[in-house]
Amino acid sequence: MPQKKQRSALGSSTTVEDYLERILELINVKGYARVVDIAAALKISQASVTNMVQRLDGEGLLKYEKYRGLVLTTAGETLARNIARRHELLTDFLTLLGLDDRVIYHDVEGMEHHISPSTLHAIAALTAQLRRRPALRAELARAVV
Ligand code: MN
Repeated sequence: MPQKKQRSALGSSTTVEDYLERILELINVKGYARVVDIAAALKISQASVTNMVQRLDGEGLLKYEKYRGLVLTTAGETLARNIARRHELLTDFLTLLGLDDRVIYHDVEGMEHHISPSTLHAIAALTAQLRRRPALRAELARAVV
């Protein structure tokens, strides 16, 4: 999926997908997502988050009301679920390779934004094969260490 990037005032770039992914995660865990929570999760300023949240509201991906918090629209939730699904699938795949959890999280956070549907599909098929082959998984785990 093509990637929209936004440069924050701090110079780091945080993607629309990162926002939607964190917002869905916060809503799932806490039942709501506030600007302060999103800022903490993404480690960026509340001012940057407010700007982005207003932009996402303008693009119809969420509804934002100052002091009330925000909700994802159907379009926003669809995008967020899609990125969450890519995150889960890539995590499953790298876990089956026997990699370290921190390495997995770091790599998945990058890969999930760049991977094309056809590659993801191939990895899903490979993941399913690996699940059925414990001997091959053990062999891979030895090679990874
Ligand atoms: Mn992710």
